[in-house]
Amino acid sequence: MASVNKSNKAKHIFVTGGVTSSLGKGIISASLGKLLQARGYSVTIQKFDPYINIDPGTLNPYEHGECYVTDDGAETDLDLGHYERFLNITTSQDNNITTGRIYNNVITKERRGDYQGKTVQVIPHITDEIKFNFFKMDQSGEYDIIITEIGGCVGDIESLPFIEAVRQAKLDLGPSNFLSIHLTLIPFLSAAKELKTKPTQHSVKQLLEAGIQPDILVCRTEKPLPLEIRKKLALFCNVQLNSVIEAMDADSIYDVPLLMRKEKLAERVLSKLKLPKSEPDLDEWKAFLGKLKNPTEEVEIGLVGKYVELPDAYKSIIESFIHAGAENECRVKIRWISSESITPLVVKDLLEGLSGILVAPGFGERGIDGKITAIQYVRENKIPFFGICLGMQCAVTEFARNVLKMPHADSTEFNPQTADPVIYLMNDQKDITNIGGTMRLGAYPCKLQKGSKVQAIYGRQNISERHRHRYEFNNQYLDEFINAGMKTSGINPDSNLVEIIELEDHPWFIGVQFHPELKSTAQSPHPLFQKFVEATLKFKKHSYKKEVINL
Ligand code: GLN
Repeated sequence: MASVNKSNKAKHIFVTGGVTSSLGKGIISASLGKLLQARGYSVTIQKFDPYINIDPGTLNPYEHGECYVTDDGAETDLDLGHYERFLNITTSQDNNITTGRIYNNVITKERRGDYQGKTVQVIPHITDEIKFNFFKMDQSGEYDIIITEIGGCVGDIESLPFIEAVRQAKLDLGPSNFLSIHLTLIPFLSAAKELKTKPTQHSVKQLLEAGIQPDILVCRTEKPLPLEIRKKLALFCNVQLNSVIEAMDADSIYDVPLLMRKEKLAERVLSKLKLPKSEPDLDEWKAFLGKLKNPTEEVEIGLVGKYVELPDAYKSIIESFIHAGAENECRVKIRWISSESITPLVVKDLLEGLSGILVAPGFGERGIDGKITAIQYVRENKIPFFGICLGMQCAVTEFARNVLKMPHADSTEFNPQTADPVIYLMNDQKDITNIGGTMRLGAYPCKLQKGSKVQAIYGRQNISERHRHRYEFNNQYLDEFINAGMKTSGINPDSNLVEIIELEDHPWFIGVQFHPELKSTAQSPHPLFQKFVEATLKFKKHSYKKEVINL
């Protein structure tokens, strides 16, 4: 049986959700984490997802949004991105566990004979494995408080073992080390002009049936919760009146920590966990919000991608633009452009009025020609360009076709037989067939070339960035690219792989093989996004001047 670490010093907060999914447990958890961190507590957040996939790496972004990659190469749920962006911390594989991973661990142990012939069951074997993972991060001794978000809704068949493990965790930890927060919805019926508490009462009842009494109710609502409603919720759900917390819809997710501060969420948590309450230091957060809310400029940037109907697929990119925009005191408006809609005939119209474009990461052939057409247009017209992963690979292909005059240049991902495989699969990756097995995942070092634009942007020479891709720049073509003006300004010092390309005779044309968007946080915006937004602002001012001169 897995051993459950009971001698931990971390206190545990479990966040469950009821009534419906998508209530924003991730943002509430991240906001609570921020408020506790602002009082000097060392906090981390972990997410337990009830689906059977071992990790979200193979999930379709249409169904699940972006796959967030951590430094240690874990492909995780996009909520981990919120945890990192709010808390300015790094997370790892240990912060995201799925049902699939739990069962995989238990089955591996069973096959190995660890259970010594015992019948392997949901209780205790699966629940013990879940609890082992609940408490795994205690072992480092690094955290005062660990917040655990349970994905899905109370009452879902899939969530049952997790909820049961939470019930047991309370017994293992003891009351002042355990806290249960239930996030629920208080719908407003416009016909009756009333906020309704019944769905919450039902959802709390379901939690109670599973043996968990919520200590705090966080109520998502579009209207303020009047005292009467709070009293009713407190009475029927058996929580203290001051533990009914209103979570009003906010303009921006970054407002939520301050909204939760007004409602005294962290105070309630700290008194229930018997921890000292000091005044939080939220100065930096407020400074960020101040800049975010009071932009003096606005730019419009085109985001060229395959999944433009579902912005969650590009969550981290959107958030990085918000951070970088705030830093530049500039509102970044995103124009979503489906790569499939771009042809040489319409490219000018589609990109009209934009101050820059970002070509997004992606897998598969759809829309590649559109991306290449857009890149040719911005390269030739000196419009700021930022290519991420597939976006960089397309920039390399475009340059090969149109500048190096290799009309058939391609990535072998799209044309395995191409005469000029400028982007290719390296030999040692070819035989691996397990999906995900061939991917370069997680943090890799990169050395920036002296005197390059990227070195000036980062202000240093050695960086580390996160990757998630299979294909690479083909170094056989290196000299031809360099001689024609495409600098390979970031190189992996161990493998010599090209990680960054930039153009010399262009104001801002940078492609990166890694995903800088995964490392941008509210309090430390990523330098590449920051400077890209700055370049688009310059471009906008410059083109405005040109227009005025031409009048
Ligand atoms: N499909 C490309 C590759 O696997 C790019 C992946 C990405 O953009 N994340 O290399």
